[in-house]
Amino acid sequence: MIYDIIIIGGGVTGCTIARTLSKYDLNICLLEKEADIASGTTKANSGVVHAGYAADRKYIKRNLCIQGNKLYTQAHEELNFPFRRIGSFVVALEDIQIGELEEKRKKGLQDGVPDLELILDKEKIKQMEPNLTDKVVGVLHAPSAGIVSPYEMTHALAENAAMNGVKFFRNQEVIKIRHQEYVFTVKTGEGEFQSNNLINAAGLYASRISKMLGLDYFDIMPRKGQYILFDRNMLHLNKILFPSPTKVSKGILVCPTVHGNTFVGPNAQNIVDLDDLSTTTAGLKEILEGGMKLIPNLPVRSSIRNFAGLRAVPDTMDFIIDNTDVYGFINVAGILSPGLTSCFAIAERVEEFLELLGVEMKVKDDYNPIRPKPERFTNFTREELDKKIKKDPLWARIVCRCETIPEREIINAIHAPVGATTVDGVKFRCRPGMGRCQGGFCRPRVMEILSRELNIPIEEITKRGEDTNIVVGKTKDFILRKLEQEGR
Ligand SMILES: Cc1cc2nc3c(=O)[nH]c(=O)nc-3n(C[C@H](O)[C@H](O)[C@H](O)COP(=O)(O)OP(=O)(O)OC[C@H]3O[C@@H](n4cnc5c(N)ncnc54)[C@H](O)[C@@H]3O)c2cc1C
Repeated sequence: MIYDIIIIGGGVTGCTIARTLSKYDLNICLLEKEADIASGTTKANSGVVHAGYAADRKYIKRNLCIQGNKLYTQAHEELNFPFRRIGSFVVALEDIQIGELEEKRKKGLQDGVPDLELILDKEKIKQMEPNLTDKVVGVLHAPSAGIVSPYEMTHALAENAAMNGVKFFRNQEVIKIRHQEYVFTVKTGEGEFQSNNLINAAGLYASRISKMLGLDYFDIMPRKGQYILFDRNMLHLNKILFPSPTKVSKGILVCPTVHGNTFVGPNAQNIVDLDDLSTTTAGLKEILEGGMKLIPNLPVRSSIRNFAGLRAVPDTMDFIIDNTDVYGFINVAGILSPGLTSCFAIAERVEEFLELLGVEMKVKDDYNPIRPKPERFTNFTREELDKKIKKDPLWARIVCRCETIPEREIINAIHAPVGATTVDGVKFRCRPGMGRCQGGFCRPRVMEILSRELNIPIEEITKRGEDTNIVVGKTKDFILRKLEQEGR
């Protein structure tokens, strides 16, 4: 079969494009090299929906961020992912920084960022954010900024796209592309796919994909950012807190998550290895010190996890969204921050490009933009829970005690469209393993459930795909085999 469109890359960019295009009467598929979608940069970032005042006006990412932020309201209503507009502060600790913040406020308002205000009244600032350092001299308040769960949003996008007919193929690393007589033949490690149009949303690997078609006009370098995540309910922050920005990043922020944790990070370190997600003592020290400048009482002892994410930094420092010289091939590359914020606006731009290419964009009669809200134990009232449990006892079988996740939620995550097939896949959909014990208690149970529901041996259950198997067999079986070999 020849698809109308193939999308390469199942991060937030590829999945937003897939979901946006799923309303049209088109045959679409998405190819992802990892065992699951949302496994690249989309998995590890700050999860901030930026207001849009930060980037320089010369970059397209500025406008796409401002538009993208606005588009979150409708997307959130339709797709039911965790998102809250809590607002952000850029914190000035010296008088000299105030002028810069005022400049950002003025330009931001002119460009359509709503309700930006400079607050210099220290008492008011401390009322709004009591934990903030006493050294604060002023803040730029952006009420439209928000927090989102980037991977839960991406799963919601993929689910809705799949409901509307998009085919998702995981474990499909694109290794070669041919373009002949207006047909792309995309070779993966597992097979071949053909399409009339091809969208490159391969994140850190996007320049490699572009080069497969002879288009060598940009490079992507990874820039690492490290984080420390604190346990839930150890610190209550009302706002996303940024320091006054530096040239290479928005600085080390302290931020609440949609699930009630707090994190500090990221720093910014240029590296070469596209897979280097290590954290370092020096990096963690840097972010702790940075965070404590804003929140001196960071709950340092309640750290539950360190992790790192890699920004896909293009040499242009801006998003590369191009209808290229290869007819039907669209690059959506270099989607560094604020790519998560901009994704809905980026997808609209891709729609425009496809129209320019003459793709017939007829909305399907049966398009359904609603992805039902996943049922969560922790969201039910006592009465609702009683009813649920009476009908289905699996609602009462708690697998993850830290996050209170029952077996039913895990089964639902496995059988959802584009459902979980790995331990991490379950974790990033419904949170077992996200809590204080980091899966120490629930992981074996999750493995058993995956094995039973997918009907595969437990030894084949992986953490996140190939070569990440967790067990090799039963200890008893090994001993029996050894005894047999020894003739005992
Ligand atoms: C430290 C950090 C903090 C950030 N904070 C924010 C923030 O607060 N707000 C914000 O708006 N943005 C933020 N960003 C940016 C945001 O995370 C990215 O813009 C966004 O996640 C990019 O998504 P993507 O889909 O383009 O890339 P990815 O998520 O990397 O997806 C690309 C996908 O393509 C797949 N792929 C690659 N090669 C192939 C191949 N050959 N075949 C098949 N599949 C392939 C990969 O496996 C991957 O799943 C941050 C980024 C970082 C690193």
